[in-house]
Amino acid sequence: MKHELDYDVVVVGAGPAGSTTARYAAMNGADVLMIEKRQEIGSPVRCGEGIAKALLEKVDIEPNKRWIANEVLGARVISPNGSVVTLTERMAGDETGYVIYRDVFDKELAKIAAKEGVDIMLKTSAISILKENGKVTGVKAKHMGRMFDIKAKVVVGADGFESQIGRWAGINTNLKPSDVEIGFQYHMVGIDCDKDFSHFYLGSYAPGGYVWVFPKAQGEANVGIGLQLSKIKDKAAPKRYLDDFIKKHKELAKGKAIMQVAGAVSTCAPIERTVDDGIMLVGDSARQIDALTGGGIINACVAGKIAGETAAQAIKEEDVSKAFLNKYEMGWRDEMEDRLYRNWIAKEKLAELSDDTLNKLIDAISTYKVETITTLEILRAVQSKYPELVKEFEEML
Ligand SMILES: Cc1cc2nc3c(=O)[nH]c(=O)nc-3n(C[C@H](O)[C@H](O)[C@H](O)COP(=O)(O)OP(=O)(O)OC[C@H]3O[C@@H](n4cnc5c(N)ncnc54)[C@H](O)[C@@H]3O)c2cc1C
Repeated sequence: MKHELDYDVVVVGAGPAGSTTARYAAMNGADVLMIEKRQEIGSPVRCGEGIAKALLEKVDIEPNKRWIANEVLGARVISPNGSVVTLTERMAGDETGYVIYRDVFDKELAKIAAKEGVDIMLKTSAISILKENGKVTGVKAKHMGRMFDIKAKVVVGADGFESQIGRWAGINTNLKPSDVEIGFQYHMVGIDCDKDFSHFYLGSYAPGGYVWVFPKAQGEANVGIGLQLSKIKDKAAPKRYLDDFIKKHKELAKGKAIMQVAGAVSTCAPIERTVDDGIMLVGDSARQIDALTGGGIINACVAGKIAGETAAQAIKEEDVSKAFLNKYEMGWRDEMEDRLYRNWIAKEKLAELSDDTLNKLIDAISTYKVETITTLEILRAVQSKYPELVKEFEEML
């Protein structure tokens, strides 16, 4: 670790976005420091721990049994009256494929970054950004009560849902209550669950969201709930709704919780801007979460790779201007903006559907072999049975 704190790149936050950005910036020649306010990377786990397999390749992450708890064949989407649609892993979005040990996974990503030469400081919080002539030139940080400046040519805000870096830099990351999902989860043991499928329960069990049961092992699962902030009246609602759901499902009610935690995700449409002179936002701080599923791990890694490569290139070319860093802005939008936008529209629709409508939708689809047909064909299938329902989705068609 250097004595003077002066780096090419400082990354704030050591989640998937931060570690991946740091890794690719260092791999491409930049001198990188990553700071993390918590004392342990990856802990506590605020996550359903589901990820898709296919996208891991995109960010050169080798599947490893150290962080894979369970491999699932697909997802079961369950309507309020119990009808089920089974989706293959490939069709089930970015939370289905592996159920992971998220704490181990995050440490693994940091380890890979460290191997590339990234310096890491734990228990170190960014408390403001440094600016010269209106341009970002680093961050002010605090470590065990001591304050100091970290100078850097590029600052990366990878500071998650509660991100302050963007706000301090004047980038608008504000969220409407209908674009925030409040989560609460248990790690449960002693339950009955089908280990081969991740389960998503829709409807009034979870207004504007869903209950998930992601199996980690035989009799063990990550069980949680996400509720739209605009649909709840008090902070205790997520726990209350989840406890009520568990009570009504005897296969879960017989189990015990060995961990509980609350958290939040953004479920907004892509934001307008994620870069400025000398600064980039990545992952949850850039609101790159899939609004339909609330999944953001893989998007954070994919965007992190582009951010890291862009940062290193900017250092080499001695140009950290907003115009240069726009390569990252365009890069991540090419990769995921259309999908994020489409899934945000779908979320807006789904959040307003009644239990009756959800029952009809899932009933209409459940008679088809979903794995072999496209989204358009699914909608046609619904149209043939309940034509009035397809009106809800005309925009998507
Ligand atoms: C309840 C819940 C369930 C979820 N389930 C899933 C799921 O099953 N699958 C999935 O793909 N996604 C899921 N997500 C979303 C997923 O967790 C995020 O998308 C992912 O963590 C994004 O990574 P990130 O690196 O951007 O942010 P984070 O992982 O949040 O990392 C940000 C890091 O920055 C640090 N930090 C913050 N401020 C500062 C500061 N000022 N100084 C220094 N460090 C700072 C934080 O301590 C943290 O370590 C879930 C989220 C929640 C809340």
